[in-house]
Amino acid sequence: MISKEEVKEILEGYNKNKLCIATLCSHSSLQIFKGAKEEGFKTLGIRVGEDVHVYDAFPLSKPDEFLHLEKFSDVDKLEEELREKNAILIPHGSLVEFVGEKIYDLAVPIMGNRQALLWESDRLKMAEWIEAAEMRMPRTLSPDNIDVPCIVKFPGAKGGKGYFTVKNTKEFDKKIAKLKISEEMLAGVLIQEYIVGVRFYPHYFYSPITSGGFRAGNGALEMLGIDRRIETNIEEIYRANSFGLNPEPSFAVVGNSEIILRESMLDKMLKIGKKTVEASEKLFGGIPGPFCVETICDEDFHFHVFEISARIVAGTNLYPQGSHYSCYIYKEPMSMARRIAREIKNAAKKNQLDKVIY
Ligand code: AMP
Repeated sequence: MISKEEVKEILEGYNKNKLCIATLCSHSSLQIFKGAKEEGFKTLGIRVGEDVHVYDAFPLSKPDEFLHLEKFSDVDKLEEELREKNAILIPHGSLVEFVGEKIYDLAVPIMGNRQALLWESDRLKMAEWIEAAEMRMPRTLSPDNIDVPCIVKFPGAKGGKGYFTVKNTKEFDKKIAKLKISEEMLAGVLIQEYIVGVRFYPHYFYSPITSGGFRAGNGALEMLGIDRRIETNIEEIYRANSFGLNPEPSFAVVGNSEIILRESMLDKMLKIGKKTVEASEKLFGGIPGPFCVETICDEDFHFHVFEISARIVAGTNLYPQGSHYSCYIYKEPMSMARRIAREIKNAAKKNQLDKVIY
């Protein structure tokens, strides 16, 4: 992985009055470009192919400039050009997915701590992080000892695609045989206790350079929104059930919807964010910027944490004009993307860019 020192050096060579916010044209780019523009940044979209219809359709989010690639995984070919343009790259789900491991060595400043991207991509590390934060996590079971209903997750599965549920070892073996899963895939399988409850995906922003507010570690933590993912076909499966169909549930994300938490439970949600930040500081130097903790609230109001996303999540796309939480922190509409841009602006003013960018 490129060292923090090297990234700091690149940042020192940047013209701080001409910083530019760049990202791949996918995932949450509409929000990212809009938020960056609102804070006065030049914007740069990295795109594949010729298709820019989305930005013609939504012109307020059209980046000032495009850079072209044959495929997103070639982003390292743009390193020099991005540095010349004083670009700071905003990582999102597609960037993490398509650029893969190249992201760790990319010689371009990235918003947040790139160590966190490594920790979120490795299931064992993620479990260590959740444990260090002393949060409830669903049990992991071995294939020959499935004694509770479980959800089966495969490595590299994106957005829940290909997951399935099992009630016992016999059902697991039967489904695996039917799917003709390779030995390699099987070795990386995660069999996790299925938690019955309601899902909440809170969106946090952690600022190590802000004083006051709700404290976490050495900085301030803001909860800027919550979403719930819409997944096919588990979401509306009751419709099929209502006339006797019992399809296998699947969990492929296709959208997101708003959700608001009972006010008396907000304290718990804030503590989840705080513990995640504090554990990250102990384990790998912190998590400046946006992140999301994927939780399920059970009938005893216990939150079970099954994943952490150490970057902006697509659920924040619900709130480009701010949310029903951000309005209690900011007088102006504050999207997650705008908050990211604001942080970069504040850090540049205070000469502390290296605290929020790696
Ligand atoms: P993930 O890829 O871990 O984010 O999971 C994709 C989806 O599967 C989630 O959004 C949930 O709907 C569902 N899911 C994941 N883990 C669990 C679990 N332990 N219990 C119940 N549902 C889960």
